[in-house]
Amino acid sequence: MPTSIRDQMFQEMKNKRIFEQARQYAYEYSDTIRNREVYPTEDALNRLEKLNSELPETPTDAELLLEDLHHIGSPNTVAQIGGRYFGLVNGGVVPAALAARWLSDFWDQNTPLYVTSPIVSHLEQITEQWLRQLLGLPDNIVAGFVSGSSMAILCGLAAGRYRLFKNLNWDINTQGFYGAPEIRIVAGRHAHGTVVKAAALLGFGIDNIQWVDCDEQGRIKTEEIPVLDDRTLLILQAGNVNSGAFDDFSTICKKAKDAGSWVHIDGAFGLWAAATEKLNHLTQGMEDANSFSVDGHKTLNTPYDNGVILCGDQEALVKALQASGAYILYNEKRDGMMYTPEMSRRARVVELWATLKYLGKSGVDELVYGLHQRATQFAEELKAEGFTVLNDVVFNQILVGFDDETLTAQVIENIQASRECWVGGGSWHGKPVIRISVCSWATTKEDISRCVDAFVSARDLSMEPQMSMPVLSE
Ligand SMILES: *Cc1c(COP(=O)(O)O)cnc(C)c1O
Repeated sequence: MPTSIRDQMFQEMKNKRIFEQARQYAYEYSDTIRNREVYPTEDALNRLEKLNSELPETPTDAELLLEDLHHIGSPNTVAQIGGRYFGLVNGGVVPAALAARWLSDFWDQNTPLYVTSPIVSHLEQITEQWLRQLLGLPDNIVAGFVSGSSMAILCGLAAGRYRLFKNLNWDINTQGFYGAPEIRIVAGRHAHGTVVKAAALLGFGIDNIQWVDCDEQGRIKTEEIPVLDDRTLLILQAGNVNSGAFDDFSTICKKAKDAGSWVHIDGAFGLWAAATEKLNHLTQGMEDANSFSVDGHKTLNTPYDNGVILCGDQEALVKALQASGAYILYNEKRDGMMYTPEMSRRARVVELWATLKYLGKSGVDELVYGLHQRATQFAEELKAEGFTVLNDVVFNQILVGFDDETLTAQVIENIQASRECWVGGGSWHGKPVIRISVCSWATTKEDISRCVDAFVSARDLSMEPQMSMPVLSE
């Protein structure tokens, strides 16, 4: 018997029983997930309480811990990799990326510097170049590998803030906002909530954002953008989070560039339209922007915790994000922390690299365009069943609504309760809507038809007279 937890851990690493156990559970999970309820059952949710316990005084047996995690935890996941989950904008997962992640989990690399992980530094360099190529971006673009678009947007706006101030002979890093010349953020009213948050975090103040109206699809109205100048940080969107609509980059980016403004494009899921010839008309002209934020974990289906900031002004990005310390040994090779706010980071680029390597250009094309095809199918089948689709399905997002607002909420509730598929709600031009985001490679044509059936049943159920209501008679 081992005498200390340290001895025990050496044994665990040596006999590998818990890793085999975890692997078996993972396979059991993935073998059943396509046919499981998309959302945990009431019964499963009730069992979550079984996890409640005091912090243990002494070590817990690892096998028992994994058993609990699987038997209580797995049924309480949403079946995101199953093909019938359409909430938020949530991607599935590419198997090769998952496998690469398993391997790199054993490496347990910390990745701020070349010296802390040569392999990660090297993969970051390769992936940066592939991203430029795939998205049709210029050679001066550098990439920072961050947790997601929230963080990537913050980085892009921080770089823009640094540059605009610097051009006005003001160093925002050392001098801060006190007494600074005025610069402004201009954004469309449909800008994502994380853009607003970044503006707040960076000290601009949400009330100081200059809002521009959007058209019925959620695109910024080009003609209503105020006169641009070298004190303007303009935020555009590749993919409205509700409708999937793209701003008119060809017209706006060039103008903004000539005026000396900084343009950031929030392309969390939509930037990938640039990677397929069949959809890259949507992102045309975006290459004139200064910075771009994009997720791996949405459209590209990498595992979670995968976002990228792409920036054409290396100096501004590094100045905005670089930390220093006497023990930080910078290298002439790539030091990832120069391009990210964090210092310690996991090796997330491994999964992005593996996804791109595995899919190749044609695989990315098939994946991205496939999402659009499934979304189009979804919209067409819904219309054929008498539903109203409120947006032009230009990418992967579909909005459905009823004139009767309570019916919209009822249908969402019934769909969710059916656990056949999962869709969320949202607000579109002031009215509640059903949001559908087709974002997983695992969603098949058959899945879509099955989900349309679930929509029909949910609507029928909502229209039925309520059984519990007393029938009034004369
Ligand atoms: C999802 C999303 C974000 C936020 O990205 P995270 O990866 O969740 O941090 C920002 N903008 C848009 C348009 C999004 O769809």
